[in-house]
Amino acid sequence: MSTPAKAIVAKVIRPEIQAMQAYAVSDAAGLVKLDVMESPYRLPQDLAAEIGDIVSKLALNRYPVPSAHKLRALIHEVMQVPEGCEVLLGNGSDECIQYITAAVAREGAVVMAPAPSFAMFAMHALFLRLRFVGVALREDFSLDTEAFLAAMAREKPALVWIAFPNNPTGNAFPVADIERIVRAAPGLVVIDEAYQPFAGVTFMPRLAEFENMVVMRTVSKIGMAGLRLGYVCGRPEWIGSFDKTRSPFNINVLTEAVAIKLLQNKSVLDAQAAKVLEERERVRSELTRLAGLTIFPSAANFLLARVAGGKGAGTRVFERVKDQGVLVKDFSGGHPLLENCLRLTIGTPEENRILLSAVRESL
Ligand SMILES: *Cc1c(COP(=O)(O)O)cnc(C)c1O
Repeated sequence: MSTPAKAIVAKVIRPEIQAMQAYAVSDAAGLVKLDVMESPYRLPQDLAAEIGDIVSKLALNRYPVPSAHKLRALIHEVMQVPEGCEVLLGNGSDECIQYITAAVAREGAVVMAPAPSFAMFAMHALFLRLRFVGVALREDFSLDTEAFLAAMAREKPALVWIAFPNNPTGNAFPVADIERIVRAAPGLVVIDEAYQPFAGVTFMPRLAEFENMVVMRTVSKIGMAGLRLGYVCGRPEWIGSFDKTRSPFNINVLTEAVAIKLLQNKSVLDAQAAKVLEERERVRSELTRLAGLTIFPSAANFLLARVAGGKGAGTRVFERVKDQGVLVKDFSGGHPLLENCLRLTIGTPEENRILLSAVRESL
């Protein structure tokens, strides 16, 4: 960049933004892609062809229906959103995080979450100049509920995020502990259920029980990451408030039409998720046998593994696994609790076979 441009950027762009790195996504070209919890399965040919037909008939010259009421009604039904609750859609749940944070962003408001957890909770707080407080998990990534309750009493957060199951650790915190947090919270608690299809537990049916709780989900981990669709379910008072911060046409015509078709065929996606679950247990039992690796409990479509050894041991294994054609996610150098930790997304049986052999060779 030329010097005058640099100087004006340095003057105008917020120092926190200058200091941060843009969200990094690795190039996976030519690699078995097991880094970001996508479903490894594409659509069956006949369903893909039907979608082609639907897309060819769309009026792309028109703006989307701003309320996306058809898709919202379908989510209500298919995802068993309780009666009396409403649904807000986002361009990925990433965008829902942005809307919720914007809606609570009073001067001086605090945002809180366990740490480590999903990076976007802290990022959107930073973007909106809110203070983010991460409450450290224990060494084994279990929730330190007493520490969390104490931090809430001290900081009085307007907004608490609980990823259930948690990313990148994979574990689901105990339901009773989350209930205590919701009951004690002075503000809103969002239960982020991005991995609900693999967890078998949900707070969705309990929305009516807690007036300060909403549930956020995404279709990204069950085969629709490319569509970008997330949603928040809760009482009309909450959803109506978040909706005011929403870009009017945030769900595009293609996403709405394709998501409707796929949710009408949800049994296809459910069957794919069931295969992933089965594979998770198989991969876990194989990895657990390897010396030099600790596998943490997971209720999601990935496993967190810690490589034994000193500083750099995890990154060395990551690089060797990559040299053998498999991309996973390396967490060394991030949150201190994640030193030497790798996150392995579960793939197809064939991809998992390649992963297991690459890991064996790399330890
Ligand atoms: C993947 C993930 C999301 C984001 O999903 P998108 O809908 O693809 O934006 C949200 N929360 C957690 C905990 C995740 O792991």
